[in-house]
Amino acid sequence: MTAPRGAPAAEVIDGTAAAREVYARLKARVTALAASNVRPGLAAILVGDNAASKIYLRNKVRACDETGVRSDVRYLPADSPQDEVLATLDELNRDPNVHGVLLQLPLPSHLDAVRILQAVSPAKDVDGLTWASLGALVAGQPSFEPCTPAGVVALLERAGVGMDGSHAVVVGRSAIVGKPMALMLMARGATVTICHSRTRGLADHARRADILVAAAGRPRLITAEMVKPGAAVIDVGINRLPDGKLAGDVDFAGVRNVAGWITPVPGGVGPMTVAMVIVNTVRAAEMRLAGSAA
Ligand code: NDP
Repeated sequence: MTAPRGAPAAEVIDGTAAAREVYARLKARVTALAASNVRPGLAAILVGDNAASKIYLRNKVRACDETGVRSDVRYLPADSPQDEVLATLDELNRDPNVHGVLLQLPLPSHLDAVRILQAVSPAKDVDGLTWASLGALVAGQPSFEPCTPAGVVALLERAGVGMDGSHAVVVGRSAIVGKPMALMLMARGATVTICHSRTRGLADHARRADILVAAAGRPRLITAEMVKPGAAVIDVGINRLPDGKLAGDVDFAGVRNVAGWITPVPGGVGPMTVAMVIVNTVRAAEMRLAGSAA
């Protein structure tokens, strides 16, 4: 079901512009912290030399520079033993100048990623991926929210897409994106359907969505026929095509004629994911300061 010729195209939600706004607001908070002699610090560990990981990390360091947050990146060789990664993590967990710690994923396959991730101090878990953070999210308690779904929520809010009372469909059920996304939409009043690779009739589910979040890692999985006219379509997917180009999970050219809002890839959820890491780092610094003053 494509919109008739001449139908207005969806509003394209600009994640880069949204991230810039977030940074402008964060600068004021960083300045306020400086008055108490606190400079927020983000530390990241990169194991190996995955090209995409290096780019993601570089974007986080740039975002730190832009907002006045200190960054400290530890590059470890690809064959680093588990103990060495854990020792580096322990050092950063203890460092008083570090407020947020993250592991750039994926880790090389010889490492136990689950165990290493769980060694991040919950007070510094700015990626929101420890079980303490995810458990708090399930329980509806304040926590560091995982950055990609937090970025999606921020984009929806900025675009004025109402979540309360909406029907949201999330395609993907990973612990990093799909599941926390569903919980966060539910917490904001949406009725949520979660789809995954075993779902029958994906198109039928998708067509009922007021808000459709695609996080499957399958290029152009979501086509115009699967979208309800006027829906907000948020594309989390980042897929490298054989010709080297990047594509999301949504067929942007077709879907933009049907949807009410749509995010591009690149330039949609990606920049806001980075922005949320910095938001969480500044928040971690503010929380520590408030705790030490209490
Ligand atoms: P995972 O591979 O961990 O999870 C993918 C999910 O999609 C799984 O739940 C899988 O189902 C489901 N799925 C796969 N194929 C289909 C299909 N044909 N129909 C319905 N569901 C399907 O990926 P992530 O959650 O980590 O990431 C998802 C995408 O988002 C990737 O492209 C990733 O690169 C991107 N990403 C983007 C970020 C950003 O900043 N923009 C950040 C993080 C991720 P099942 O569970 O049954 O296998």
